[in-house]
Amino acid sequence: MRFDIVTIFPDFFGSIVAHGILRRAIANDLIQIEIHDLRNFTQDRHRTVDDRPFGGGEGMVLKPEPVVEAVEALGVARKAERDNLHESVILLSAQGAQFTQSSARKLSKLDRIVLICGRYEGIDERVNELVCDLELSIGDYVLSGGELGAAVIIDVTMRLLPGVLGNEDSSAFESFGRSDEFLAADSSGVPRSTHGAGGILDYPHYTRPVEFRGLAVPEVLAGGDHAAIRRWRRERALEKTLRNRPDLLANADLTHSDRAFLAQLTRTKP
Ligand code: SAH
Repeated sequence: MRFDIVTIFPDFFGSIVAHGILRRAIANDLIQIEIHDLRNFTQDRHRTVDDRPFGGGEGMVLKPEPVVEAVEALGVARKAERDNLHESVILLSAQGAQFTQSSARKLSKLDRIVLICGRYEGIDERVNELVCDLELSIGDYVLSGGELGAAVIIDVTMRLLPGVLGNEDSSAFESFGRSDEFLAADSSGVPRSTHGAGGILDYPHYTRPVEFRGLAVPEVLAGGDHAAIRRWRRERALEKTLRNRPDLLANADLTHSDRAFLAQLTRTKP
């Protein structure tokens, strides 16, 4: 999979591509990231990328010509043909549709994604109309630029590509994870959903030491009873989701015993 980033701050991404799973995915040729300096697509001596807004108001706006010329120079397909060719041009924008784990799952099926990073008050809207397929926001807040958004989208999406994480199950069995197999029982008859997410949050994790500042690791995790461990983890995940993100429960894959457990929690809540 190839990501192209159009930005006025190409150096911003240096450290992001140099660490952890992303660095390894690039080194193993699982993904390719190309960064394009918007100023290389300007025509004037001062390499101007911004101008004052029509209609007045504060701040500056990124001019349309360099951005559109940058996208055209990348050789992506024409807008009408992109779907078939598994390519997409995405505008980072606070006005965009919300980027979520499920949008990342859709993006992870593509072969090529172009990410356009805005700055200042944003980008001339004609860029959106002429060359973008999708306007995405990473959350309900205003960033000073699209670069962090682009980094978030790349990070979340590439983790879902086959071969990027060591263990293929890891991305299904974590917060927001989903898999068609969640509700199928495993060999011990316990629904696989008790391993992890199914649209809810992950369970809490522990490692050594067994005792730390007076807090012990929950006993069940040290015993060898795997069914009991799965049940404990599922219940803690449900508890945490109810406490921190009750909105997720409406669309989660829940079993009968999940629902019974949640009903009991809500009943006993002070
Ligand atoms: N005037 C705009 C904000 C501009 S912020 C508004 O009120 O909607 C400058 C740039 O940062 C934007 O062009 C966009 O590329 C990026 N940006 C800001 N918030 C973002 C968000 N929540 N998600 C993705 N990109 C964002």
